[in-house]
Amino acid sequence: MIVEALLKDAILDITKLRKDMIELAGGKGANLGELVSFDIRVPPGFVITSKAYSYFIAYNNLESKIKSILEEKDSATASEEIKQLIISSQVPPDLENAILSSYDELAKKVGKEVLVAVRSSATAEDIENASFAGQQDTYLNVSRSELIQKVKEVWASLFNERAIEYRKTKGIDSTKVEMAVVVQKMVNSRSAGVMFTLHPATGDSRYIVIESSWGLGEAVVGGKVTPDEIVIEKSTLRIVEKRVSHKILKYVYNPQKKANEEVDLSNSPEADKISISDEEAIELAKLALKIEEHYKRPMDIEWAIDADLKFPDNVFIVQARPETFWSSKKATKEEKEEVTSVENRKVLVKGLAASPGIASGIARVILDVKEAGNFKKGDILVTRMTDPDWVPIMKIASAIVTDEGGITSHAAIVSRELGIPAIVGTKEATKVIKDGQEITVDATRGIVYEGKIVEEVEEQKPQVTQGISGISRDTLMSLYPITATKIYMNLGQPDIIDKYVDLPFDGIGLMRIEFIVSEWIKYHPLYLIKIGKPEEFVNKLADGVARVATAIYPRPVVVRFSDFKTNEYRRLIGGEEFEPEERNPMLGWRGVSRYVSPQYEPAFRLEVRAIRKVREEMGLKNVWVMFPFVRTEWELKKALKIMEEEGLQRSKDFKVWIMAEVPSVIVLADVFAKIIDGFSIGSNDLAQLTLGVDRDSEILGRMGYYDERDPAVLRSMKKLIRIAHKYGATVSICGQAPSVYPEVAEFLVRAGIDSISVNPDAVISTRRNVASIEQKIMLEKLRK
Ligand code: PEP
Ligand code: MG
Repeated sequence: MIVEALLKDAILDITKLRKDMIELAGGKGANLGELVSFDIRVPPGFVITSKAYSYFIAYNNLESKIKSILEEKDSATASEEIKQLIISSQVPPDLENAILSSYDELAKKVGKEVLVAVRSSATAEDIENASFAGQQDTYLNVSRSELIQKVKEVWASLFNERAIEYRKTKGIDSTKVEMAVVVQKMVNSRSAGVMFTLHPATGDSRYIVIESSWGLGEAVVGGKVTPDEIVIEKSTLRIVEKRVSHKILKYVYNPQKKANEEVDLSNSPEADKISISDEEAIELAKLALKIEEHYKRPMDIEWAIDADLKFPDNVFIVQARPETFWSSKKATKEEKEEVTSVENRKVLVKGLAASPGIASGIARVILDVKEAGNFKKGDILVTRMTDPDWVPIMKIASAIVTDEGGITSHAAIVSRELGIPAIVGTKEATKVIKDGQEITVDATRGIVYEGKIVEEVEEQKPQVTQGISGISRDTLMSLYPITATKIYMNLGQPDIIDKYVDLPFDGIGLMRIEFIVSEWIKYHPLYLIKIGKPEEFVNKLADGVARVATAIYPRPVVVRFSDFKTNEYRRLIGGEEFEPEERNPMLGWRGVSRYVSPQYEPAFRLEVRAIRKVREEMGLKNVWVMFPFVRTEWELKKALKIMEEEGLQRSKDFKVWIMAEVPSVIVLADVFAKIIDGFSIGSNDLAQLTLGVDRDSEILGRMGYYDERDPAVLRSMKKLIRIAHKYGATVSICGQAPSVYPEVAEFLVRAGIDSISVNPDAVISTRRNVASIEQKIMLEKLRK
């Protein structure tokens, strides 16, 4: 009787599931069923429900055995023993028959022997834990003869060591949790990718943008290729833009090796062939519209096209999540406007795409910031190069174009942080573009066009908070994958934290204080000391830091002491009196060398006092510090001593990091690791100093010399991680490299980095990329 009850609903076809059936089918299963409920094609399959799991446990009398192991053994041993117990137990014959006949039915439907994906689908109580513990086992390309074994392995993963530990701390009884298993036909993916029901670069909701590449979806999702891009107008289902990229690789399943493998396409004609037909793209767009209509919000969708089936049965949706990045306000505004295609537009200049996005507006060609008086909100700034004095103008600009500068120049860094499209290093923008001319800056591709292509957009910035207000931070975070590598965000301007506070980052990995000094304080600290107003510096700096630390509490904020160069300090009010004119400020009196010099030391003490004020008077213990441009051990020790004299000392809740950006720090990593808590790689300066290439040199930049992916730079980073870990220090990175190159993030995750700090616009993509890399690493380990 009991057995019959347990076997009932033990297996359910995906088509029978709905989103409220998480208890039975787990989150993944229930969501797939919901998609099917409104005719979305998902790979066919079935779910072995939580009932089946309970039946298996009851049949083998495992509950009491598991209970006593958990009571008697430590988590690591318990995990091993329970997993073994589950894997060696027998699946009740009637359940086994039911699973295999469901498989046979699926095979019959598909018309041949079918390979399936077997995935865990956590039930409500365990969902949070499942993502926390990486308990998301997926076995790909499973055949009939392996199926039962793989199902048991997925069940066993409920008892991963971390999962047991987690439940202990939350007071959840491990013998009471259950798990469902999704079994789905493997899509033999000819092409795959993602699509968005609004333009990911501009937030324009009139368009569907499809990104596509050959082979398995991993190439696009993990950022391994520049995908083909198709833009489809929703109202007419017409393709309005098509871009074919050079796709350097694809992932395919190799049946001999029983594993996915990377195929190099760089010399194959396939690389430049479009990976999706018009008919397939339009079919995808139709599905995207239906999904958006059902969920009533912009969606981010993964899809695949099967090589064995005929159109349209070959077009599958693999996953659909809400897209939360762009505000609906901006999208609605744009809906009323006309947009023309970029084809046939005159190209004015090209340069480096430094901060993605697109904007149209009136160009203001301004060579001297003092002449920026009539610059209006929404105008486009065209200038030679920016420096901190330009920031107030940059804040109201709808886009920025410069003659000079590379990807780590002031203009590039600030615009990325502000979320404004920017193109740098055009060489001749200030000559070619006329003041007052109407232009369009397509900073996703690095091209400036003549005329207006999109309407001027008031707010180009992602407005996460506004778009999804009312959702708790925990719920918000659960929309994104949990990663073992922490994802931090870089931020310098305290007042924009409110815009970004709901992004899924684990802390601020680099808070540059130069913005607070040049925009809030405005005076040189030594000048303020001279006129008897040092508190002005301390209070304003403390306020700026506290603003960010409060907004994201208890997530940490790593505040970097000042890293102005002499030419930048000179520009502060009263600065000329204290700052020499150096021939080469980039390699001059910057970073720690200032703090330990008799001239600047009193100002450094003010910086320390501000941090102490934030931590002790305001109680914001989530504020840590970082020293920039460290060159030698002796100077760092001296600076640490000054900090101690001011009452700040390394402790369990006060971490002290240093930037690893001068190669000497990496050469002597063991020496430094003993006196600090962590390193943060400054890949901008590290690439410059390792390769001997001025990071702002356009000549060398154009020749491809300035490249953080150079093997010498990568090897240095890897070496740092190895040595730092050996001596107990953590390693992060806050230079631009991982924000711009997903492959650098992959390299660092594989090398074991502890955290990655990226620009606001790269937080979500980096979190997804890192999650997929971590899962790949786990899969590779399992296969071995
Ligand atoms: C770096 O050098 O990588 C870095 C983050 O510091 P900055 O760009 O401020 O020199
Ligand atoms: Mg630096």
